[in-house]
Amino acid sequence: MKILIKKSLPRTDRQSYVNVTFEVEHDRTRFIEHAHGTALALGVKSLLPLTRRRTITLMRRIVKEAQDHEITRLVLQKDSLPSLPGWHLDAHDCCRLLAENAHMAAYSFTAFKKQTKGEYHGLQELVLLGMFTKGERNSLARGDTVAQEIRACRDLANMPGGDMTPKLLAQRIRKAAEGSGARVRVLSKADMAKLRMGAILGVARGAKEDPTFIIVEYWGGRKSAAPIVLAGKGVTFDSGGLSLKGADVMLDMHLDMSGGAAAAHAVLAAARMKLRVNAIALIPAVENAVSGESYRPGDVLRSMSGMMIDILNTDAEGRVILADALTYAKRYKPALVVDVATLTGASLVALGTKASAVLTPDDELATRMCTLGEVSGDYCWQLPLWEEYKGMVKGRFGDIANIPTKGPRYGGTIGGGMFLAEFAEGYPWVHIDIAPRMTSDEDDNLAPGATGVPVRLLVRLLEQEESR
Ligand SMILES: [Zn+2]
Repeated sequence: MKILIKKSLPRTDRQSYVNVTFEVEHDRTRFIEHAHGTALALGVKSLLPLTRRRTITLMRRIVKEAQDHEITRLVLQKDSLPSLPGWHLDAHDCCRLLAENAHMAAYSFTAFKKQTKGEYHGLQELVLLGMFTKGERNSLARGDTVAQEIRACRDLANMPGGDMTPKLLAQRIRKAAEGSGARVRVLSKADMAKLRMGAILGVARGAKEDPTFIIVEYWGGRKSAAPIVLAGKGVTFDSGGLSLKGADVMLDMHLDMSGGAAAAHAVLAAARMKLRVNAIALIPAVENAVSGESYRPGDVLRSMSGMMIDILNTDAEGRVILADALTYAKRYKPALVVDVATLTGASLVALGTKASAVLTPDDELATRMCTLGEVSGDYCWQLPLWEEYKGMVKGRFGDIANIPTKGPRYGGTIGGGMFLAEFAEGYPWVHIDIAPRMTSDEDDNLAPGATGVPVRLLVRLLEQEESR
């Protein structure tokens, strides 16, 4: 889909455009035929008054309804949204949110769909009708750039495990970075062995596919400015390993590299927007597989930090590979490290499917992330990471255990955070558990599958860093 700005519609093929209008008295959708064309009238009663969140919902619904009605070219008058009750966004903010969310709603994963002639191929043009200032056009362009990276991120995440191995993930990210201004380096299994990344290598052992460690570097800021490091979990398929998952929960586990895809594409967005920041993505990529070579429950892995990890459950592998990534991050002397991972099912128990969990020992940083979540639309909620929880991850024979060792099995998301905290030493750090947002809900007005969370949040973070 393309978003186009026009002052007026061409006289000749006006009939091929459908105008979107709003009706505030009800929630139904209907077509209205006028002498000068057709209008898609959306009932918006339950979205009024328009909060920021509801505005985001509405922007997606516009595209979703257009697609449900097989509309190819849709026209939105510039002043139509601001005329709705409760409107409070400024014009730039509106342009940014509209571009991001219209594109997100228009997306679907089509890599394996046969293209049939004469079939409906989704909304092709969203025409914004009116006068736009240069600033507003820039905001639309920024939203467009972010949306393209979200699209690419969702494409990576949605790709089945057999078609998205650690090696293929590295290739795809390398290709995506071409011409962006960011640089990609990929460490091989042998490189990782030299660096003594025993945690990543341990998890990867059962797979036929070798692990990779993908590094995306964008140096857009001052040379002396410390970078922000985004570490993303890149488990290309998670069977659970010998602590095997059940069939029902294994089905979507090709999405277990969503955090890695988001970290990479957030850095690429920053590069394409030419932000004056330094940003690095680190993606340990492995397949967690079952074989005679698999790491076992009870094994003790020596991490890059030197800390010995008790593997009590091979399905808690995300935190294990991120441990080495967090240690590797130290060499950048980072201003901040954000790790992003589909880490725990427990985060869904805690938050349902509407928010990612944010965990950090630094309350101010947690507030900053949750605020950015609200601004971007990648909503977050804080869970505690107090020292009182430290006993949860005490090692049995090693230094630290990869799942809570004692007491009732509650607070699994906090357990994951407490484990990572032990490796995130010497820099400010925040952990985002995006498992609740790994796949879309029906009422998100997004296609089934990956959501591209939290690319928008990470980009806003990098933009904020630029202006600090
Ligand atoms: Zn797992």
